[in-house]
Amino acid sequence: MAERDSIELLGVRAKGYHGVFPEERREGQDFVVDVIMTTDLSRAGASDDLGDTVSYAEIAADVVARIEGEPLDLIEALGERIAADVLHRPEIAEVEVVVHKPQAPVGVPFGDVRVRLHRTRSSAVTIALGSNLGDSTGTLGEAVEALREHVEIAAVSRPYVTVPVGGPEQPDYVNAVVTGTTRLTPWALLDALHDIEAGHGRTREVRWGPRTLDLDIITFGTTGGPDEARLDRDLLTLPHPRAHERAFVLVPWLDADAEAVLRVGDEVHPVAAIVAEVDSGGVRPVGA
Ligand code: ATP
Ligand code: CA
Ligand code: CA
Repeated sequence: MAERDSIELLGVRAKGYHGVFPEERREGQDFVVDVIMTTDLSRAGASDDLGDTVSYAEIAADVVARIEGEPLDLIEALGERIAADVLHRPEIAEVEVVVHKPQAPVGVPFGDVRVRLHRTRSSAVTIALGSNLGDSTGTLGEAVEALREHVEIAAVSRPYVTVPVGGPEQPDYVNAVVTGTTRLTPWALLDALHDIEAGHGRTREVRWGPRTLDLDIITFGTTGGPDEARLDRDLLTLPHPRAHERAFVLVPWLDADAEAVLRVGDEVHPVAAIVAEVDSGGVRPVGA
C-alpha cells in the first residue's frame, strides 16, 4: 500500500481578519498556509486520470475561503477548520496544516510565526457480509474478528438466513452488517476487505454466484454530512448502488442500527423506510 505518499500544497496566501487585536480585525493581514496531505498516489499514478487524484486547485480555493472567511481569534482555530475541510475528502486520511502569520503583532522584529497541526480522519462505515459456501455463520464470525484490525466496530447485526437474489441456482446465504469507524481511506478499506475475502478462499468465477465470503462497503462517511463519500467508479461505488433494493442488506443493517440512513440518488432516507418498500420475505434471523 502506498498510503505514505503525499501531496504538498505550500504557501497559499490570502488576506484575512483573524486575531485578537482591534487593528487586526479592522486592517487585516496576510496569512500563509501549507497543507501536506497523506494519500495514496498509486491509482492516479497508474491511470493518469484527474478523477483519481486530489484536486489541489479545489483545496487551495477552500483554504483561501477559510482565510478570507469568518474572523477567528486564533490561527490554531483557523488551522483546525482547514484540516477538517481537507479530511472531508475520502482520498486523504491524514493532513498536516501550517498556518503562518508573518505580520503578527509580536512587538519585536521576528521572521515568522506559525502553528502546525497534524490531524487524522476517522470515518463512519457500514459493511455488509455474506456467505453461502462452507460454514457460513462461522465464516462471518471470523470475518467480523478480522475486520477489527481495520474498523472500530460499533455494532454487529445478528446473522440472517436469506434466499439468494439473482445469479445462478445456489444455497441460501447467511448475511450480516457491521457498523463502525475506520481510519483508512475507502480504497485502503476495500483492499483490506479483499484480503479478508481471499483469506477465506473467495474466488470470483460467476457473477453473483455462490461464495465463501463477500464483504461490501455500503456507506463511507456520514450520509448527508460533509465527509460522505460519493464515488462512481467500477473499482468502488459509494454508497453501494444496489444496497437500497436488497432486503438481505437492509434488514440486518436495521438490526445493527435502528437509526441508519441511506442515500438513494439525491435523497437520504431512513433504512427503516426503505426496508418497508422491499420484499423482505426471504430474510430471517439464523435459528428463527
Ligand atoms: P454486488 O456489488 O452486486 O454486491 P458482488 O459483491 O458479487 O456484487 P464482487 O465480485 O464481490 O461483486 O465485486 C466486484 C468488484 O466490485 C470488486 O472487486 C470491487 O472493486 C467492486 N466494488 C465497487 N463498489 C464496491 C463496494 N461499495 N463494495 C465492495 N466492492 C465494490
Ligand atoms: Ca455483494
Ligand atoms: Ca463484493
